[in-house]
Amino acid sequence: MSFCIDLKGKNAVVTGGYSGIGLSVTKTLLAAGAKVAIIGKNYDKFSSIASELEKIKGNAGFSFYESDISDSGGISKTIANIILQDGKIDILVNNAGITKDAILIKMSDDDWNEVINVNLNGLFYIVKNVIKYMIKAKAGKIINISSVIGESGNAGQANYASAKAGIIAFTKSIAKEYASRNIYVNAIAPGFIGTNMTDKLNETVKDNIKKEIPLNRFGAPEDVSNAVLFLASNLSDYITGATIDVNGGMYMR
Ligand code: NAP
Repeated sequence: MSFCIDLKGKNAVVTGGYSGIGLSVTKTLLAAGAKVAIIGKNYDKFSSIASELEKIKGNAGFSFYESDISDSGGISKTIANIILQDGKIDILVNNAGITKDAILIKMSDDDWNEVINVNLNGLFYIVKNVIKYMIKAKAGKIINISSVIGESGNAGQANYASAKAGIIAFTKSIAKEYASRNIYVNAIAPGFIGTNMTDKLNETVKDNIKKEIPLNRFGAPEDVSNAVLFLASNLSDYITGATIDVNGGMYMR
């Protein structure tokens, strides 16, 4: 018996797939044989990692679509373009996200709206556009990147926590709506993972956070992309509507 995950012939879309966790997801899916379309806001950031991707792409290709996920009209055109180019989307990884931290009394309307617009509304726009093609294909794997903060809450992150909790509720609802069409919808809730997002924290804050993590360390982007690979593959074919915690034990339900 062999458990090598093979995604040859599968087409994936990864939002924010050129940095941090998203870059690790792109590399992992390419290494497993999938073709990957990256959606991101910044062509220069994509081009700075394109040569890295060339080395691991094998026979599968990768492409870049410049698009802001919080722009509903733009995302609709982008997904239509991806379908025009690639013909289908088998795997969608909603990874892009931002933080704008402040305690509530200092949180501006803009800080609130921007985080909800990118992290929650953006995900809604993409899934709504992609799922119609998955319905026609009677197949699809959707993986939404939430956060431990969406489960536990966090002082200074009411906007981010609300968006990430919303992603978990959205995941369960869409999983129920489309299970009969063979479309799987799951979430991953990472804990603290070493990326640009967490590099912003100062060393004292990082040390304090580590004390709350039973495994006593931050995770690596690969810890998350390994879970994405599992959810993208047929090894997870009896799992839908779930949230997988990748948090070193920081939060246990
Ligand atoms: P990151 O390196 O900052 O990556 C975020 C990605 O999202 C970037 O590629 C960014 O592109 C993209 N993005 C942001 N706004 C966008 C928009 N409007 N349209 C399109 N793309 C956009 O952070 P990360 O840590 O890898 O985070 C990836 C995901 O994991 C996020 O959803 C985050 O909330 C979640 N997460 C992270 C951690 C952690 O500890 N790192 C923990 C839990 C959950 P630009 O760089 O061009 O803006």
